[in-house]
Amino acid sequence: MYKDIPLEEALAILMEYTRPLGFDEIDIIEALGRVLYEDIYAGFPLPPFDRSPLDGYAVRAEDTSAASRDHPVLLQVNQTIYAGDLPAGPIAPGEAAAIATGAPFPPGANAVIKIEDTKLVAEDQVLIYSQLKPGDNYINKGDDVPEGERILTRGMLITPAVIGLLASLGRKTVKVFKKPKVAALSIGDELVGIDEPRPDGKIYNSNIYAISAQITEAGGIPVPYRDTVDDQNQIANLLNTCLQENDMVITTGGVSVGKRDYVKEAINISGANTLFWKVNIKPGTPIVCGEKNGRLIVGLSGNPSAAMITFYMLIRPVIQKITGLQQVHLPNVTAIMDEPFKKKSKQRRMLRAKVYWKNGCYHAVPSGMQSPGALKSMLQCNALIDIPGGKGPLSIGEEVKAILLSTNYVL
Ligand code: AMP
Ligand code: MG
Repeated sequence: MYKDIPLEEALAILMEYTRPLGFDEIDIIEALGRVLYEDIYAGFPLPPFDRSPLDGYAVRAEDTSAASRDHPVLLQVNQTIYAGDLPAGPIAPGEAAAIATGAPFPPGANAVIKIEDTKLVAEDQVLIYSQLKPGDNYINKGDDVPEGERILTRGMLITPAVIGLLASLGRKTVKVFKKPKVAALSIGDELVGIDEPRPDGKIYNSNIYAISAQITEAGGIPVPYRDTVDDQNQIANLLNTCLQENDMVITTGGVSVGKRDYVKEAINISGANTLFWKVNIKPGTPIVCGEKNGRLIVGLSGNPSAAMITFYMLIRPVIQKITGLQQVHLPNVTAIMDEPFKKKSKQRRMLRAKVYWKNGCYHAVPSGMQSPGALKSMLQCNALIDIPGGKGPLSIGEEVKAILLSTNYVL
């Protein structure tokens, strides 16, 4: 078992035990936010035929070589092609076809003149006021996506654009990585459920809800269990149930050095191997991690902010890797402190902060009370300032590394 290890080492250990789970085939309309399990090749080109990018007249460019504002060229309109139509036939020299945006080119035409540069002078006669070169306003089939191109790759996050492309290629369903089932379990004698009366001295179990929401946000399926008291055998039994019913288990509470902190012992009793205890990060140092039959148990601090922050740093990338995502690391930016942070950071600290864009660069302010149990400061927190151990205090104007948790408030 490793003890007091750096965050990166803890994450590397967790990642070692992390594997994707296979696939589901789902309707593309349901696929937003999921991760592609398959490479997607274009079975046909996009667009699938040569087409006009605008409303105008399809012409032979050679016929317009003498055209100008003062000396327009007169062409004979031999057909009208709307989007969705097929051309009635080719155009001959001296002829033009009225054509709509998205309509296929008639044989013989090699350019389109926009309607604004023309004037219809009779039902079938049009004046052309400017010259065209062959290929002007001509969209070739396959210009966007050539036939056979690998247009989407396994491990890609499914965005609205991915869904649009799948639909353009006529795909109704798509294979996506399976979502992991992640058990959320809160431990503590002081906890009551939000559906129960709350006697003095007790608190509502908020972690189970915040952590479940974070599991959803990371792409997992949260499976919340009823809170349990600080009893090592009860915890061990529940851990085994959670392990059997889920792909991974996250607990909060009972991981520190208190007399009734039993999660470490419970991991042993459950028959799991302990991989590490305590990670060098504040808040949330006493993280414990166990593994049984390839499934991970990660015990986080019960302090609500500490639990959420360590979840972002350690659990979110693990869940994302299980969901097949290639890119799981949170982005970071350099930001300038707009307020001081007066404490020294003996240990590496993740400071809850609000980062925003101002005058061409990112700025940051602490987002409120930094005690690990204070939850309100998570409300405005869209970033964590990564302060190396031994650094600080931070003064106004100082450059810091800010890990972005969300772009919600980055103005
Ligand atoms: P622990 O990690 O068990 O030492 O708990 C640290 C602090 O977090 C204590 O103040 C607990 O009351 C609080 N806490 C523990 N579990 C929860 C929970 N599920 N929801 C809200 N607060 C909690
Ligand atoms: Mg406790």
